[in-house]
Amino acid sequence: MGRIMKSTPKNGQSGDAAAISAAGLSVPVEFKGLFLDEAEKVLAALGEPRYRARQVLEWIYRRDAPSFSEMSNLPAELRSRLTVIGRILRLAPATKNVSTSDETTKFLFRLRDGEAVETVLIRYRQWASACVSTQVGCRMGCSFCASTIGGFVRQLTAGEILDQVLRVQALTGQAVGRVVVMGTGEPLENYDATIKFVRLLHEPYSLGLGYRHITISTSGLVPGIQRLAAEGLPVTLAVSLHAPRDELRRQLMPVAKRWDLEELVGAADAYGEATGRRVTYEYTLIDGVNDGRREARELADLLAGHLAHVNLIPLNPVAERAFRPSPGAAVREFQQSLERKGVAATVRREMGADINAACGQLRRARAKEGAARGEGAGRTDRPVKGR
Ligand code: SF4
Repeated sequence: MGRIMKSTPKNGQSGDAAAISAAGLSVPVEFKGLFLDEAEKVLAALGEPRYRARQVLEWIYRRDAPSFSEMSNLPAELRSRLTVIGRILRLAPATKNVSTSDETTKFLFRLRDGEAVETVLIRYRQWASACVSTQVGCRMGCSFCASTIGGFVRQLTAGEILDQVLRVQALTGQAVGRVVVMGTGEPLENYDATIKFVRLLHEPYSLGLGYRHITISTSGLVPGIQRLAAEGLPVTLAVSLHAPRDELRRQLMPVAKRWDLEELVGAADAYGEATGRRVTYEYTLIDGVNDGRREARELADLLAGHLAHVNLIPLNPVAERAFRPSPGAAVREFQQSLERKGVAATVRREMGADINAACGQLRRARAKEGAARGEGAGRTDRPVKGR
């Protein structure tokens, strides 16, 4: 960090900006997404005591303040200066779809650059779970997924990922008790922002969420899993498996051409050993593709004896794909086959099929509407009102 210049009101607005630049920070400062030590650097550059940084971040993360002017425990003069040099990002709700069949609400949020991301809130009896996106679009190319159809657009920042949680809380009035990083994008391809987001969620000046209430899902980036294991964060790892043998997995998920099942399960085992956390394997059941007796047997052979749990997910159909969900009887038989061989398996209840709740479908549907109106690919224009 460069020399910190004490800024006073006499220096005026340009003095504050110069002091922040001299501290090696860029102006305007985006506060949402900052750790406490980063915010302290900003406040120090303004000549303010360290405790002001915590006050500012508590307003942003815990009280969801939209502007500095609301921060009533800061001096008025400091609030004015912060308004000039800083900003607080806030995703704009573009669409809110409430499922009539279950407790799922899906949001499409517009970003500052006009792109859009999806977030899903699932209510359970005592708590709510938010499923957040880490990228706009996705380059992983999984053949059953809508998120990848338009390709990768850009990475999300830690602040943009965190604001998805803050926005669904504000729009539903429901406190989020669990977070799954399983929306659009491959989180381990946006590694730094994802880890910063997870750490921020846990900070006491933010939501204070326990790491054990956070799940990070990956399509199978083995080096990313190894890196995550070394972080020392006891978050749950979810591996998107979807096939029990390499040849079939390569057809469904291009990532399998780079790392085979032996490497993937080996990395997941090492993750479980390093963190003490049982690994979840996500397995989407696709009619006639990966839901037969052979696949159930192969999956049981692959995972028996491992610290693992299988989450069976009936496919949420995507209009652009020919895949269909497995019938209920096939799902039950698949689950029973696994359990007979000692592999724990649960069937995730089908959620939000009536509201495009599968990864990427809502953004895709809105992009198609936008294209029909001659708008850009990710843009959404109809605002919805929050509560
Ligand atoms: S399933 Fe996940 S990793 Fe695969 S294409 Fe969709 S968003 Fe990307």
